[in-house]
Amino acid sequence: MNRGAGDPFAALPPDAAQLAERWSAAAWSPDIDAAVRAIYDDVAAETAALQPVCNASGRCCRFEEWGHKLYVTGLEAAWCLRGAGTVPDAAGVRAAAARGDCPFLVEGLCGVHPVRPLGCRAYFCDPKAARWQEDLSERMLARLRALHEAHDVPYRYGEWRTMLAYFAS
Ligand code: SF4
Repeated sequence: MNRGAGDPFAALPPDAAQLAERWSAAAWSPDIDAAVRAIYDDVAAETAALQPVCNASGRCCRFEEWGHKLYVTGLEAAWCLRGAGTVPDAAGVRAAAARGDCPFLVEGLCGVHPVRPLGCRAYFCDPKAARWQEDLSERMLARLRALHEAHDVPYRYGEWRTMLAYFAS
């Protein structure tokens, strides 16, 4: 059974490269960097208080297998790539989509854990988390969107591998 996703490059807009440049430039702004960190710190504080179970199964990173999709804003993707210090190439993004997982998943663990996107921080496969994770995600996403708007950074919100395709060469 093929659990892979479609081609992440199939629906890129003509201005994808320009958008990626705008997001990447913004991700290097000290003010924006501090704001993104503050949002993620608040996510960490809230989830720590709620104590969801995570046994590092890697389920949340094997999207198609578990019926879970990761969505990010353009700025979030750029901020993650800035922190990762690397951008997956087109072949790597396509391979991840074909496998149905994330290009940063390495032997079941996250290779960019300190800079992973909101969706990776707020999603838990612990059934008890279903009670609160949507509300948490929506509130924090609203803050990310407000950050885009406050700094005049174009807002796009898309599936993770598709958003990585904006940056991949
Ligand atoms: S960024 Fe890390 S936590 Fe998020 S899906 Fe990829 S490997 Fe998993």
